[in-house]
Amino acid sequence: MKTDESGQGQMDRLLRRLERERRARAQAETLLEERSRQLYLANHELALLASALEQRVEERTQELVAERERAVALARQDQLTGLANRRNFNDFLSAACSRVWARSGRVSVFLVDVDDFKHINDAHGHEAGDAALTEVARRLSCLSHSGLAARLGGDEFAVVCIDLATEEQEKALAKSIVETLKQPYAFGARSLSIAVSVGHASLPDHANSSAELMRHADMALFASKKAGRATATAFSDDLRDEAEERRLLELELVLALDRGEIVPWYQPIVEGAGRTPKGVEVLARWNHPLRGVVLPSLFLPLAEERKLLGAMFISLFRQACREIGPLISAGKLSYLSVNASPSQFRAGGFAALIQLLLQETGFPPKALVVEITEDVIMTDLTRATREIDELTRLGVRIALDDFGTGYSNIASLSRLPIQWLKLDRSLIARIGDGHVEQAIVRAVLDMARALHIDVVAEGIETERQAEWLISAGCRRHQGYLYGRPTPFDALRDFLSSHAIKHASTG
Ligand SMILES: [Mg+2]
Repeated sequence: MKTDESGQGQMDRLLRRLERERRARAQAETLLEERSRQLYLANHELALLASALEQRVEERTQELVAERERAVALARQDQLTGLANRRNFNDFLSAACSRVWARSGRVSVFLVDVDDFKHINDAHGHEAGDAALTEVARRLSCLSHSGLAARLGGDEFAVVCIDLATEEQEKALAKSIVETLKQPYAFGARSLSIAVSVGHASLPDHANSSAELMRHADMALFASKKAGRATATAFSDDLRDEAEERRLLELELVLALDRGEIVPWYQPIVEGAGRTPKGVEVLARWNHPLRGVVLPSLFLPLAEERKLLGAMFISLFRQACREIGPLISAGKLSYLSVNASPSQFRAGGFAALIQLLLQETGFPPKALVVEITEDVIMTDLTRATREIDELTRLGVRIALDDFGTGYSNIASLSRLPIQWLKLDRSLIARIGDGHVEQAIVRAVLDMARALHIDVVAEGIETERQAEWLISAGCRRHQGYLYGRPTPFDALRDFLSSHAIKHASTG
């Protein structure tokens, strides 16, 4: 019985244990299933993340590539006009020249420069200037065929062509650039016009390298600029010789100033019926050791380019004060007239410079006349007025030079303290032509009288001109009839001989 009972008990315990183990296994299985599910989900999420990351990396890579391409394009493009920039142009040109050397063909370069671009900016504002440049760019791109149009900087453009076979075709394109760009362009409601100068050269006809090609096209452009607005010039050997000559002269000019070879010459200004020399105008001459006397028309533009005008003016002014000062103290002359260059006047500080020079030389301000040209006044009336007022305060007189050649605004003239008008030689040369020309000069003389401005007639060459002017009331004269510009010694002789003549006739 006991055995039966204990056998039953053992069985129960076994069953309970089995049951416990079954439950534990079931629990473990559920847990395992749950864990696997979680693991699966986590894995799936991870896979999604990985794929998203991969896609983002791909997108970013594409963005970076695009940005780099944009940056490369921008570095080769002019921001304002969208044309190729100088770097891009140089690369294209070098490649084109290398191709011509390797095989055959022809590279033509056209340098294009807007005439008086500063005037567009000054007169109509920078937006109009930008619109003009954009318009030039648009028209040049249309004209550049299979070549490349570029903006090299400022108002300088260039076109390089590889499909022009002859110099005739080049000339035709240069002409059509000038003509096409001459057409007015719309700026807001206004219609503005521009003009360009073009210089062109080609390889292999005119040059052996891209650098030489550019240099020669630039020489041709310089010739166009010199010839006036809206012209095209092809490079020629003569242009190279001229440029070489100019370069040589430029180098010599720097030395000439140091060596004191730039000297004042003097042209007398006479007054009244006795035609008495009362003053002199200082004119620059270059005593060149080999070339002899060089005229200012040849070296002043070079001096302007090399920014030597300021130094040249100071040197001439000092020499002139030293030579003419004693004649003024002795009562042999009443005034000295000097020419202020437009660039000097525009740079500002001109009146202050004159004040310093007058103090340094002890030259009397009342005996000094400063000649300025109309364009100095008209391009920047405010600055001109300030400088002229300051000069007038010093006691210096102001003469308006070359009157009749520019576009003087008579209303502005009446507001400026100008003491003299110098009638340009071109007006004087025409007074023998007829009534209309005489009427014009008479009208200027009447106007000057009304404004209490004295008139000096320049470029008088004949007795008839002199007599007519005196009869019209103009008694202050300058010109070859009375005396050419001369060095100081000759001027002194001229003054003494006039004094002797005057004494003997008077
Ligand atoms: Mg003058």
